[in-house]
Amino acid sequence: MPLPYLLLDIDGVLIPFPASDGSTPPTHVRHTVLPAGRDPDNPVPIWLNPAHGPLLAAFLTSGLVAPVWCTSWRKDATTIVGPLLGLPEFPYLDLPRPEITTSHPNGYLWKRDHVEPWLGGSAVAWVDDDFTNLDHTWAAERTAKGTPTLLVQPDPHLGLQPEHLTEVITWVSQLPRARVA
Ligand SMILES: [Mg+2]
Repeated sequence: MPLPYLLLDIDGVLIPFPASDGSTPPTHVRHTVLPAGRDPDNPVPIWLNPAHGPLLAAFLTSGLVAPVWCTSWRKDATTIVGPLLGLPEFPYLDLPRPEITTSHPNGYLWKRDHVEPWLGGSAVAWVDDDFTNLDHTWAAERTAKGTPTLLVQPDPHLGLQPEHLTEVITWVSQLPRARVA
């Protein structure tokens, strides 16, 4: 089978939510960035865990998965967030900008309407903090029909932990290997 995709979210995964008092985890370093199209007088503070760079980089370049950003940061994931973590360059999904006030306008993660047709029949490990029960049901049904689908859901206040990556690596290691021609 072709390489499984690894879809990677940013907000709530690499950038955990701040605490109610506005504080951010001591593990994370603050940066001020300017997303594409944003007023230069109005940059955005973000916070990233420098340990995530080495943690992710080795796996992303292992050839075991095809990594793709799946985030409302869109291209800025590749030009801002990835480089700040020292990650290798990899593609991003050019998600639309729907006018929605919740990330689950139909009860499931809005990104799925775009991810699903893009995936076609590919296996995927998808890391996002914002899945609902309907997404987990979708993943289970997709897997049951023969397309391995793993959803990994960090706590958005903690973000990505090493065990999440371990979960993906374990999942990949159990997939049928591509046959060498
Ligand atoms: Mg998120």
